[in-house]
Amino acid sequence: MTADATAPFLPGATLGMVGGGQLGRMFALEARRMGYQVVVLDPGEDTPAAQFCDRHVRAPFEDLDACLELARLSDVVTLEWENADVATLREMERIVPVRPGPAVLEVAQHRVKEKDAARRLGVLTAEYRAVGTRQELDEALREIGAPAILKTARMGYDGKGQAVIRGAGDVDEAWNAVSAMGSEFILEAMVSFRMEVSVICARSATGETACFPVAENEHRGGILHLTRCPARVSDEIAAEAMRVATALAEGLGVVGLLAVEMFVDADGRILVNEIAPRPHNSGHHTIEACGVSQFEQQLRAVCGLPLGSPALLRPAAMVNLMGEDAGTGLGRAGVADALRVPETSLHLYGKGAARPGRKMGHLTSLAGDVDEAAARVLRGWEAATRHG
Ligand code: AMP
Repeated sequence: MTADATAPFLPGATLGMVGGGQLGRMFALEARRMGYQVVVLDPGEDTPAAQFCDRHVRAPFEDLDACLELARLSDVVTLEWENADVATLREMERIVPVRPGPAVLEVAQHRVKEKDAARRLGVLTAEYRAVGTRQELDEALREIGAPAILKTARMGYDGKGQAVIRGAGDVDEAWNAVSAMGSEFILEAMVSFRMEVSVICARSATGETACFPVAENEHRGGILHLTRCPARVSDEIAAEAMRVATALAEGLGVVGLLAVEMFVDADGRILVNEIAPRPHNSGHHTIEACGVSQFEQQLRAVCGLPLGSPALLRPAAMVNLMGEDAGTGLGRAGVADALRVPETSLHLYGKGAARPGRKMGHLTSLAGDVDEAAARVLRGWEAATRHG
């Protein structure tokens, strides 16, 4: 650790990034623009972030020596992948500040701990029970009632490791599907939500906080499809969503970003679904639409610099370009057609093979109002995916 823990890391410093995917890539682009060096740890050969970093430590995340090498090469370490091994991060922390730290990761890696922490901090969640055995699942289902969702407690993302239980007849199938993917589970009551929203809250090493405006999210098959910003909610609901995200970031002691996914239920209440202590897919529009991008904000927060203005300069919408969307591969004509749509930006992540379920890139459109921004970005998406 540096002698003065509050001294900022200034341009010229080396930033370590755990994970080399698209979030690390967009962080590295901002970091290099601002005069920082970037070292990425990732097992892949030509990962999205490695294409823009100064140095790539190519090793599995479980490789302690490689993690310690990253720590030694860096002035401060941050991450784009929240499933890094907590014990390893503790070892790294002896050498270099790790932001956000292992204590935050420990909570964010486990859906039960996440919801326990939310409740402890006075934040609402769906009803839930920790489940370890089939018998506990039966008991939890009796208490919570159907419909409910069984999820793995760890390593679940983008709707993986989940099964919906609509009635007693679904329990065997849900248990067989999900129990094969872990040893700890959570049963959650199914929320009949009006809307899914997210807030990305930055908290700097100095304790300063700033939230990006509330984003409204539509998923397809558990994967984010479309984000609109601002969310079409009342000022009161937006303020509450931002209060909740700030309470979690402060309560957990996050240094960096905390993305909070939430449901707005039929009564307008905010229920926290999931947290991620890193940049988030629902914040990609901040690159074009806000006073500072989520990636620059992550950098400012972990370096102890003043936070930038998260204000929305223009309504925006973002759509993901997935591997299964024809035309999204590099060199395809479709993506160029999307650029005919006004105020539309293309981001491709430099991934070679377009596989189903793989996020290849995204489009962001701006407009005078959020419905027009969404209409534009969907026109762009249709154009991009029209070509096989
Ligand atoms: P997750 O992996 O927890 O983010 O879940 C993926 C998606 O499944 C969410 O974005 C929701 O659309 C849906 N989902 C997850 N949990 C619940 C729940 N308790 N009630 C209703 N829908 C849910």
